[in-house]
Amino acid sequence: MSEFKKITIAIDGYSSCGKSTMAKALAKELGYIFIDSGAMYRGVTLYCMRHNLFNSRGNPIHEQVIKALTFISINFEFNALKGTSDLILNAENVENEIRMPDVASKVSAIASIKEVREKLVEEQRKLGANGGIVMDGRDIGSVVFPNAELKLFVTAKPEIRAQRRYAELVSKNIETSYEEVLKNLIERDHLDSTRSESPLIKTSDAIEIDTSELTPQTQLAIAAQFAYNNLIC
Ligand code: C5P
Repeated sequence: MSEFKKITIAIDGYSSCGKSTMAKALAKELGYIFIDSGAMYRGVTLYCMRHNLFNSRGNPIHEQVIKALTFISINFEFNALKGTSDLILNAENVENEIRMPDVASKVSAIASIKEVREKLVEEQRKLGANGGIVMDGRDIGSVVFPNAELKLFVTAKPEIRAQRRYAELVSKNIETSYEEVLKNLIERDHLDSTRSESPLIKTSDAIEIDTSELTPQTQLAIAAQFAYNNLIC
């Protein structure tokens, strides 16, 4: 792909609709960097959980979270076994911990804090400064890279998304139930779409892909076709 200019690809959408799988495969296909921006919000959430920055009702204590941001460093490290990057929180590999249901249940509240978003958006822009990147999240096409050459907006029916996420958690021996997973993703979608800071939206220039009936291979083929069309335009 080296004869083509390196473009920026933004993939946004609801929880568990196959964004990361598609983004990862597309980055591999193009020889691009893949960044899972949700992992960065999960990393900040894990730090806040470990430091008890939530009140008795389970809501984040904003002033304390904002103060703690100075002590939080988020990086990625390539994991050759998996062929993808793990999240590093203050020099510790926390890739497994950030996928746990207790982190999932708190991450949207942390992600709604303006100062958290400012810090992570700045990091995300640095990671994508040279193009050649596929980043997935909720605000990538709208806020992080509004000039991205290709923007995809991924959707799928909630029941199908919950089934996929549940199967993934079971395969990792993480104890949960289908009902709990469905409830969490409906709650997160609601919080992510209605928050005042950078809510999840489909921008007018994004292409929508409904993955409800698509295999990962077909999803990749569709996304790659859009990417190649963009590269030769
Ligand atoms: O993609 P993932 O489900 O891991 O994201 C976890 C959470 O992080 C989302 O539910 C959302 O609250 C937040 N997030 C965000 N902006 C992004 C990526 C994730 O607010 N760009």
